[in-house]
Amino acid sequence: MELYKQHQIRIYNSLTKSKQEFKPINDGNIGMYVCGPTVYSNVHLGNVRTFMSFDLIYRYLLHLGYKVRYVRNITDAGHLENDADEGEDRISKKARLEKIEPMEVVQQYTVDFHNVMSKFNCLPPNIEPTATGHIIEQIEIIKDILDKGLAYIVDGSVYFDVLKYNETAHYGVLSGRNIEDAIHNTRTLDGQSEKRNPQDFALWKKAKPEHIMRWPSPWSIGFPGWHLECTAMSTKYLGKQFDIHGGGMDLKFPHHECEIAQSKACFEKDPVNYWMHANMLTLNGQKMAKSTGNNILPNEIFTGENTILTKTFAPSVVRFFMLQAHYRSVLDFSGDALEAAEKGFFKLMEAVNNLSSIKAGKISTIDLNSWKDTCYNAMNDDFNSPILIAQLFEAVRFVNLLKLETETLTQEDLTHFIKLINSFIFEVLGLENNVKKDTSAQLSGVVEVLIKLRNDARANKNWALSDQIRDELIEKGIQLKDGKEDTTFTVN
Ligand SMILES: [Zn+2]
Repeated sequence: MELYKQHQIRIYNSLTKSKQEFKPINDGNIGMYVCGPTVYSNVHLGNVRTFMSFDLIYRYLLHLGYKVRYVRNITDAGHLENDADEGEDRISKKARLEKIEPMEVVQQYTVDFHNVMSKFNCLPPNIEPTATGHIIEQIEIIKDILDKGLAYIVDGSVYFDVLKYNETAHYGVLSGRNIEDAIHNTRTLDGQSEKRNPQDFALWKKAKPEHIMRWPSPWSIGFPGWHLECTAMSTKYLGKQFDIHGGGMDLKFPHHECEIAQSKACFEKDPVNYWMHANMLTLNGQKMAKSTGNNILPNEIFTGENTILTKTFAPSVVRFFMLQAHYRSVLDFSGDALEAAEKGFFKLMEAVNNLSSIKAGKISTIDLNSWKDTCYNAMNDDFNSPILIAQLFEAVRFVNLLKLETETLTQEDLTHFIKLINSFIFEVLGLENNVKKDTSAQLSGVVEVLIKLRNDARANKNWALSDQIRDELIEKGIQLKDGKEDTTFTVN
């Protein structure tokens, strides 16, 4: 029997603002869409946290035996500098500044994104569609929305008529924004835009002469609005109604609100049953921002080329650190927090390495089922990884007691225990047991002790011993250098 038949997951649905029992549309099958990156710069660490949160969710659903179709897009056109449909296309702007083709920008940062995802051991989605690869689908949706009378054309651009839509539906259903209040507050402020109302959003924009990325359409040579691509690609691959739609908290409004409006206007259905949003990552208690310098790129954590941290951290340690917080909580990234996570990570891996040396006993003195239930209950309760991790530290305690033979497990229970630990740590949390402890400080300490012993030997004119220490260190690849003041060493 598939595991999912024994486990009822509860998901916090941003749409209903409550935890709900999860029931997929098709039994045993799940359609999940997550908004991917706009590939105009190196992937932001905050976005990494979002993708890692959905990787955890994806991994747990797979662990339970669900057949999951996971779609995560690449935004390679249409995302303007601000959310009010103004400013340059982010990718075009980068291309103009660097004097390269927009598709070179897209290629460079898609490769970077994939590299970073694979370093953090995030599984690739099943389909990774691009906005530029789905222009035809987007045009078809615009035609449909125009036919329904919920969009209007102004000088070659097409805008979604939020007011008209709101007469029969609820614009603001996800974000909780009240459209009437918004209109009341902003209507008089806007005189420049060609939109009928500032709340309306672009489905298609006519390209200005300097706009590089452009496609023909029935209305003008132009480009699609940013929100439209996700409606086109999610419904194409997952159906007009699907199970889970995820993204960062910052996408709730306007992006996801607009997605709901587009889908309802076009297909007359609520597109998504469970909306999930991952919370943000702060750095040393402040919002991360390139402009203030309070920023660190994923690769800079691994190489040490940054001014934020005093040492490097392995990707799996960073992953462990991130999963120690629930995906809906704000998480603060700092050197101290990472060092604490690293200690915990090594403790966990040491326990994994010790598993094979445990000997089975005649009886089981540990209540394995109760421990296992607590682990599954944590994950079934809106993917609560911090509670799962706390239970894994309980397992570390078991491992130590089993090694001392203070507690025992029968062979059958021991095999089961080892299988569960491995599943939770590697399959579900996606950690990797490939991080070497940095022992350079200990090494320095040991060599310093030997230098001191050698100095004592020389002071006592014990040349044989002092030479022996120097020569044996050379054999181990450590070269001592006697200076005027003191002796230093190099490691080859
Ligand atoms: Zn999206």
